[in-house]
Amino acid sequence: MNNKECVFCKIARGEIPVEKIYENDNFLSFPDANPVVEGHSLVIPKKHFKTLLDLSNTLGAELLDCLKKTSVILLDKYKAEGFNVVSNNFSSAGQAVHHVHFHIIPRREKDGKILSLHDLKDSEREMWFLIMSLRGF
Ligand code: 5GP
Ligand code: ZN
Repeated sequence: MNNKECVFCKIARGEIPVEKIYENDNFLSFPDANPVVEGHSLVIPKKHFKTLLDLSNTLGAELLDCLKKTSVILLDKYKAEGFNVVSNNFSSAGQAVHHVHFHIIPRREKDGKILSLHDLKDSEREMWFLIMSLRGF
């Protein structure tokens, strides 16, 4: 897919209207069109980069600025107590839009939502620990 067809490039160019939450020179945030919880939003670079690996390190401070400012706005607006930041990179990790983006998902205590990294059974956890030990990390 080229930048002309990319849905997030269209949003960055203003061709698809979104309600901007926050923006700086190189990043922009807006609500996800298919929210998994109230306030689920996305942070994207205004230029087309496929994955996190394509983002220049020099953009790090601006990315962090957009992630933090957007999260603070969402925490306040939706009276949330916490938030998850998730980035799916490459199709195998669930990336559907191949323009790097960061989901910000407001959370409340016991909201029963997704995103626990701690659901493994003890036997599975022990297996992964053993494999990682054998590989050296
Ligand atoms: P991925 O699975 O690639 O990490 O997530 C892509 C996200 O982009 C999905 O949550 C989807 O709802 C969102 N999305 C896709 N197209 C649009 C759009 O045109 N507008 C907005 N606001 N979100 C979109
Ligand atoms: Zn793009």
